[in-house]
Amino acid sequence: MNFKSFSFADSILSALDKMGYETLTPVQKMAIPHVRRGHDVLASAQTGTGKTAAFALPIIQKLLDNNADGKTIRAVILAPTRELVDQIDHNIKQYCAFNNVKSVAIFGGVEHDKQINRIQKGCDILVATPGRLIEHLRKGNLALNNACHVVLDEADRMLDMGFRSDIETILEQCAKQKQTLLFSATYPSAVKQFATKTLVHPKIVQV
Ligand code: AMP
Repeated sequence: MNFKSFSFADSILSALDKMGYETLTPVQKMAIPHVRRGHDVLASAQTGTGKTAAFALPIIQKLLDNNADGKTIRAVILAPTRELVDQIDHNIKQYCAFNNVKSVAIFGGVEHDKQINRIQKGCDILVATPGRLIEHLRKGNLALNNACHVVLDEADRMLDMGFRSDIETILEQCAKQKQTLLFSATYPSAVKQFATKTLVHPKIVQV
């Protein structure tokens, strides 16, 4: 099994080739087939396991299949810190080096207007910290009703940081019919409860 086994577009395969990705990491092997089929996923995976590609590549492929044009936010990825948001956005830009799928990162400490300008220039995938995304939603700056893919990365940390109600509000504003992927390094009861409430018949991935 390799990246070609998932029938990814040539543009994605070329990017992976350029990045030197040859073999799949365990979380990629286990999660990509479920994400490709549109299932919700509950995955336990630490940073450094290749989880970003595990959720991002199938979403990018779906956006290519649906002719994403940068005019609507179709996927939202939430992560706890500015550093992680930046890193995910950077990876997605690399995966999309040979196609037109556009990713934008937003987090605190940057002017709201600058972020909105960037989104208006083209954004299919929004990578954000929950706090900053909520601020934009409260101001009416963004619409998420076409966001059919949602990733909650490092969910345990986001819940620890007190983002639970912000995340719930964000999820309510996304498309009713959506695919939700939850990645967490640990499974305290807060994460279990949240996952039960949020995910629909999730496939479980444990690395
Ligand atoms: P992540 O856990 O997503 O933060 O990934 C950790 C690092 O592994 C990043 O630098 C990725 O670019 C790299 N990586 C992810 N998947 C692969 C792969 N299949 N082959 C080689 N490197 C990878």
